[in-house]
Amino acid sequence: MQVLVSKYAGFCPGVKRAVKLTLQHGEGKPGRVATFGPLVHNAQMIEHLAAKGIRTLDSVADAPEEIIVVRSHGVSPSVMAALKATGKNIVDATCPFVSKIHSIVDSLDNRCLIVIGDAHHPEVQGILGRARYGVSVIEDEDSASQIHTDLPVTVVVQTTFDQQKLKGILAILQEKFQDIEIHNTICSSTRDRQREVAELAKKSDLMLVIGGKNSANTGKLVAICKQSGVETHYIQSVSNIEPHWFSNVFTVGIAAGASTPEWIIREVVDMVMETNNEGIEEVKEDSNAILDEQSKPLGVGDIVVGNVVQVNPDEVLVDVGYKMEGLIRKDELSFRKVENCSELVNVGDELEAEITRLTEDLLELSVRKLTQSKAWKTVKEAFDNQTSVSGRVVEVVKGGLIVDLGLRAFMPASLVDLRFVEDLSQFVGQEVTVLVIELERRRNKVIVSRKAQLMRETEAKKAETLATLEEGTTVKGIVRRLTNFGAFVDIGGIDGLIHISELAHHRVEHPSEVLKEDQELDVYVIKVDAESERVSLSLKRILPDPWTEVATKFKTGDAVEGKVVRLADFGAFVELIPGVDGLVHVSQISDEHVEKPEDVLATGQVVKVTILDIDVQAKRVSLSMRDAVRTGKKFAKEERHQESSIGATIGERLGNFFDQEDE
Ligand code: SF4
Repeated sequence: MQVLVSKYAGFCPGVKRAVKLTLQHGEGKPGRVATFGPLVHNAQMIEHLAAKGIRTLDSVADAPEEIIVVRSHGVSPSVMAALKATGKNIVDATCPFVSKIHSIVDSLDNRCLIVIGDAHHPEVQGILGRARYGVSVIEDEDSASQIHTDLPVTVVVQTTFDQQKLKGILAILQEKFQDIEIHNTICSSTRDRQREVAELAKKSDLMLVIGGKNSANTGKLVAICKQSGVETHYIQSVSNIEPHWFSNVFTVGIAAGASTPEWIIREVVDMVMETNNEGIEEVKEDSNAILDEQSKPLGVGDIVVGNVVQVNPDEVLVDVGYKMEGLIRKDELSFRKVENCSELVNVGDELEAEITRLTEDLLELSVRKLTQSKAWKTVKEAFDNQTSVSGRVVEVVKGGLIVDLGLRAFMPASLVDLRFVEDLSQFVGQEVTVLVIELERRRNKVIVSRKAQLMRETEAKKAETLATLEEGTTVKGIVRRLTNFGAFVDIGGIDGLIHISELAHHRVEHPSEVLKEDQELDVYVIKVDAESERVSLSLKRILPDPWTEVATKFKTGDAVEGKVVRLADFGAFVELIPGVDGLVHVSQISDEHVEKPEDVLATGQVVKVTILDIDVQAKRVSLSMRDAVRTGKKFAKEERHQESSIGATIGERLGNFFDQEDE
């Protein structure tokens, strides 16, 4: 059994920071520090702190502790004021992600606040206490559709809300309100954790999710796992595990909520590993690095990531976690020319952009600049190493196409395909793989060729085909071209030739009689010449041999009809069935002397013949027209004799037999 541990299992950066601050002040000094409300939603962790003399308080009045820690969920301004009024030392461990929501709400001016989250959760309570112009809390699509206000609205989201559920709620709000500002404030740690646990659930036969029963974020992880259909157990510690869960299980996934201490996860992992010790994958995120990143001051040239909160025709606003939103003008969104920014982005989209201007009251960003400078690097590398790059065709212009490689690349019409393309518009919207054939940064010039890439692919395929192709085998191919002497068949980067004589057992005048272009077929490999890159193919050799039918269909003495297919000095070849020609020797053509067969016969003529001899082994049939004529005459005589009694004419019975004889 394999055990996979989520790399985001356990304390999130905000909880880690709160625990660290609490222990910094209270470890080794029992009774000095208390937390205002449970520091984390985990009973074992609270017991652990209590054992160190750090109490959890609901009210700080009369508490003897000199330091009070405000947990990562934060508190409302009135609660903070009351705490400060006690004269105690207040350590504010509010998570920076929550503080960001506080500053959004504090900055609202005559806008109604909508909080998406659980109204009873302490984080949401802390946010509600800051709203000044009306507020609603919603947590599903039903409650979203019931909100009414005449004010413009601003939306914030509980940091641990379910990202998937959020989409549907936002869609309803956007439909309902014209003037709406959306701040997707789900913290990146929660987003990563939820995304990763969904992936983990897909790979696992059984999921164990560890966390306190009252931990909202753990509950969401459990819901995500269950949605994926995998058997999921919500456990608080190792004592909840039942060994029979693991029978017939190959992969166990272990995830944990943001307030689950490391040692509880370790106990669970060890317990599962004790019985099944095959392998473990475990990587932990660097939470300190995430928080450091959050608090770094911004500057021009920095790269920021944020969610689009507003889309106007000529600009979009992006929340990048700064005190003000970033502004991206239409021309800075992309090199593509659009009428309205909404053609490129939607509210809620995540964008990465470069800071191009930063003042006290303006943060300007550019996606285009960042994308282009990244793209130049990629395109230059591709040009230097002659590797391929992919991009979408966005426009037909005079003489060719424009390909979006993160920058504008031109593809001349003659380099679009291996063959001439009349209508270039069929490529618009298509993803194409190209080679960069010309590059000039100073003039922003990038020329690409799909044709060169296709030729390269064909060459590679050809080499592979030639290396693996075996004579005497049958392979699949597509008819590419028909000529007078045969058919060229693509068998994978290389066109092999089926000579006209190898097309069928019978005589073929032109390949179009048996094949058509683009036809898929199996072909037999006769010969491979890797040096000259020539491959000889046959269709005939994998078709049933008509000579196998000859022995059952014909016998010596049979009088049959056939078509003259070839004339030689020594006789005429008559086709009995396709692929089986018999020879009427010149001496067997008529009772009278025939100098040359062509004096009395023509190709294509249908004649009656008698089979003199069949040699299947040697694939030879000897025929005679003389015998057939005699038999015909004898038959005619008898018929004439009977004619008077039965009333039918001989001509009607023999058809044109004598006509043929006379020709
Ligand atoms: S879940 Fe996110 S917002 Fe909440 S404490 Fe952790 S890092 Fe901060």
